[in-house]
Amino acid sequence: MHLKRLELFGFKSFADRTVLEFQHGLTGIVGPNGCGKSNVVDAVRWVLGEQRPTSMRGTEMVDVIFKGSSARPALSVAEVSLVLDNTEGLLEGRGAEVSITRRVFRGGEGEYLLDGERVRLKDVRAMLYNTGLGSRGYSVLEQGKIDAVLSADPLERRGIFEEAAGVSRYRAQRKEVAARLQRVEQDMARLEDLIGELESRVRSLKIQAGKAERWGEARTAWRGSAESLARHQVWLCNQELSRVAAELTQRLAGEQELRGLRQGSEQDYGLRERESLTLQAEIERCSSEASELAAELRALDERRTNLASRAAGARAAAGEELARATALSAKLGEREAEAAQARGEHVALDEQARRAQQEAARLAEELRELGRRSKLARDSSQQANESVLACLRERTAAQNGLEHLAASLAPLEERAQQ
Ligand code: ATP
Ligand code: MG
Repeated sequence: MHLKRLELFGFKSFADRTVLEFQHGLTGIVGPNGCGKSNVVDAVRWVLGEQRPTSMRGTEMVDVIFKGSSARPALSVAEVSLVLDNTEGLLEGRGAEVSITRRVFRGGEGEYLLDGERVRLKDVRAMLYNTGLGSRGYSVLEQGKIDAVLSADPLERRGIFEEAAGVSRYRAQRKEVAARLQRVEQDMARLEDLIGELESRVRSLKIQAGKAERWGEARTAWRGSAESLARHQVWLCNQELSRVAAELTQRLAGEQELRGLRQGSEQDYGLRERESLTLQAEIERCSSEASELAAELRALDERRTNLASRAAGARAAAGEELARATALSAKLGEREAEAAQARGEHVALDEQARRAQQEAARLAEELRELGRRSKLARDSSQQANESVLACLRERTAAQNGLEHLAASLAPLEERAQQ
């Protein structure tokens, strides 16, 4: 079995994917200090499962990821794959070429792949037992390691020889078995403790079982009593139930009756409500009529006041007319007396004239005088007659006015009373 190829990507100074092919025979890597020669050896140990960051010359495992340079940014993953030639079949159950891959991400998570399949570190280590390969195997002797081997104490050197002789696998298995045996012994001791504990619990459970038995008997007795009590209570309940059923029937009948009453009341209520609505409408009509009548009454009051004042005016005018009529009547009396006097004088003068005419013949002078006097008397009589006629006309007009006023007074008084 020999190393065939090493592929690096993002590991330390190998930012680009780099493939190193190893031919049969010797391969040497030459370069100036700090060019990355030791990084190749670190990559081989890292892919084989190195766990100590210090041995990778860092403080934590993510330090192996390319951290960038002035020319390019840092990466977030480092990956190394180691390809082994297994044509001799040293790695049992594997093909002619075996690849081991390890990755670590910036977050700290890592993974291992065997021939592209995800595996645990344990699987990688198990496969490499006795091959001399491994992160601490003798097959990798990094810078200064030869000096370390030569100056190592016999015990450390023995580890290297045992690894080479294939003893280390059995030693590891023995260590594992011893550890398992120790775990089993510890389990046994725990089981013994447990058994002791369980025995004491069994004793206490036996006591508890005796108590439980007694409790069971007591419970059976209690159940019997409880049953007879319950039966008695059921009997009482049945009694109560039949009494309640009879009462219920009675109540139902009462309810039926009340329902009938309620229905009647509801009908009555409907009727009353309709009546109330009609009455309400009537009240509204009456109230509007009352307001109309009140308005009319106010108007009539106003008119009555007007008519009363007009009647008082008319009464005053009638009084005045009456006084005037009385005065005119008095005047008429006077004129009538004057007329009568004048008529008397006329008659006397007529008489005198007749006597004078009779004496005319005799007394012409006396006749002229008498004629003149007769003419005067006639003129005065004429005047008196005219004044009597005027008085008569005035009295007729006054009487007419009085009658007219009397006739208009009667309806006014009637309206005033209304
Ligand atoms: P010497 O001849 O002195 O032994 P060398 O050739 O073995 O040197 P290495 O020690 O392998 O060199 O490489 C060191 C170089 O690797 C340094 O230049 C360092 O900057 C670089 N290096 C180490 N870790 C990283 C990293 N995570 N990212 C980028 N560069 C890194
Ligand atoms: Mg170096």
